[in-house]
Amino acid sequence: MHRKRHTTRTARLLAALVLSALACAACGKEGSPPGKGPAADELPRYTVAKGFELPRSGTWKKARSRGHFVVGAKEDQPYLGEKDPASGTYSGFDIEIAKMISASLGIDPKGITFKTIASANRETALQNGQIDYYVGTYTINDNRKKLVGFGGPYYLAGQGLLVRSDEKDIRGPGDLAGRRVCSAAGSTPYQRIQKDYPKATLVAYDTYSVCVDNLLTYQVDAVTTDDAILIGYAAKVPDELKVVGKPFSEEPYGIGVPRGDNALRLAVDDALAAREKDGTWKKAYDATLGLSGVPAPKPPAIDRYPAS
Ligand code: GLU
Repeated sequence: MHRKRHTTRTARLLAALVLSALACAACGKEGSPPGKGPAADELPRYTVAKGFELPRSGTWKKARSRGHFVVGAKEDQPYLGEKDPASGTYSGFDIEIAKMISASLGIDPKGITFKTIASANRETALQNGQIDYYVGTYTINDNRKKLVGFGGPYYLAGQGLLVRSDEKDIRGPGDLAGRRVCSAAGSTPYQRIQKDYPKATLVAYDTYSVCVDNLLTYQVDAVTTDDAILIGYAAKVPDELKVVGKPFSEEPYGIGVPRGDNALRLAVDDALAAREKDGTWKKAYDATLGLSGVPAPKPPAIDRYPAS
């Protein structure tokens, strides 16, 4: 009896998740505020910097003549980067970071075209000019710095584990031996499990929301990625899922830019520093990721590393 009720509820949840994933057909422009999610008046308003010029950045010049930036993002990560299936509008903390930077660089954020790019495709998208910059839970590390540039960091996350609420045996990465663990291909959490916890059975998909579907249907036993992402999934179905243990890595989130474009990278750093100082960063956090219940941290120190 109980089992049946549980299964029906899970099936309904799944249908909802699948539907929201399918609704991505019309990827669109930023415009009206999202139908659900944070109230529009709590979000910061961004004043477009007047007379801003960045002639040494090829990316900026292209965006200026086009009239808007094309920004890579995630569309299935609650509080961070989420696309409303009905309107095609993106919302979340990463989306706000993308907007505040666009405004500081003198280009109206209302015009941003967001493109959903999966974890494994971020470097290629930046390398082949598909996007101007990327804001989507993108960890800065030395391997990736060989392929792309990073502004920031603008937030510090840590790897965690999401399990079903009835799970008793998984409390940390040390408990994963012989269990099925899902993560996104090309992500740092995937690589960490592969390297440091080889006894776990790793399963990879393009997105974490597919991993969550697999967790809800008992295809896998845990989902691993950044705590900031997992908290959002758990909040959507608190009766079914829980985040366990302590974060076991440091994931500093950067703004990905094309590798050679140091002028853009440093301008992004300047923009971020100014927005942290004037309170815009905190306002954006409070209206998005802060809704997960975690109070605004002090943003991590910006790393203005030299061009190489
Ligand atoms: N921050 C990690 C990464 O960049 C995990 C989240 C993601 O895949 O976007 O790989």
